[in-house]
Amino acid sequence: MTKHTKEILDLLDEHYGKEYVCYLNHENAWQLLIATMLSAQCTDARVNIVTKDLFQKYKSPADFAAADLKELERDIHSTGFYHNKAKNIIACCKTLCEKYGGEVPEGIDELTALAGVGRKTANVIRGNIFHEPSIVVDTHVKRISNKLGLVSGDDPVKLEYDLMKALPKEHWIRYNIQIIRLGREICKAPTPKCSECFLTGCCPTYQAEQKKASKAKAAKGRTAAKSKTASKEKTAKKEK
Ligand code: SF4
Repeated sequence: MTKHTKEILDLLDEHYGKEYVCYLNHENAWQLLIATMLSAQCTDARVNIVTKDLFQKYKSPADFAAADLKELERDIHSTGFYHNKAKNIIACCKTLCEKYGGEVPEGIDELTALAGVGRKTANVIRGNIFHEPSIVVDTHVKRISNKLGLVSGDDPVKLEYDLMKALPKEHWIRYNIQIIRLGREICKAPTPKCSECFLTGCCPTYQAEQKKASKAKAAKGRTAAKSKTASKEKTAKKEK
């Protein structure tokens, strides 16, 4: 681990603690799986509102597997992309029932083979349910890890592997939890609140912005000084 990475991780631990927090309400593995599928392009707060009633109505993967597609679409409508989400949830729960006795499998290959389950969802399950070290690359992790200079690029799978190399294993799960909080409270898109951030000392993006701002200020100062001199000379000429 580099000195720069250690500095960032120490500050994240110091400010946000080492607790595992899951922002999606759930009571078991299959509920978290469905909540995570619903969270694509949707806020966790909205998903929590929807799943409050949804998990009262559908009480097991078998209930979802037997759901009427149109009715499930209506039930999850407000989370967006509801056609695909409903179709995938039914297909995924059918596989859970037929292949795994209604349980959620632990392996990344088995999870990502389920309908609508990508690496991000699979890693949420592995980290939160099975406590397997895993890195969830969501929109906050992607954006802020780049800003902090821990990785560079846009491809979530590459970023996941690069972060696995950059961060010690014991930080993998909580890094995501801490970065989500940072992204929601301080390092917001599109305008981060750097003046409130505890990472300014180790954030290359912030430092580059500061450098740019001070260069622009110096250039402005030089232009102002030049025009002051020119106007003085003009006045002096007139007086002659
Ligand atoms: S200093 Fe600014 S850009 Fe860097 S992590 Fe903090 S809020 Fe984000």
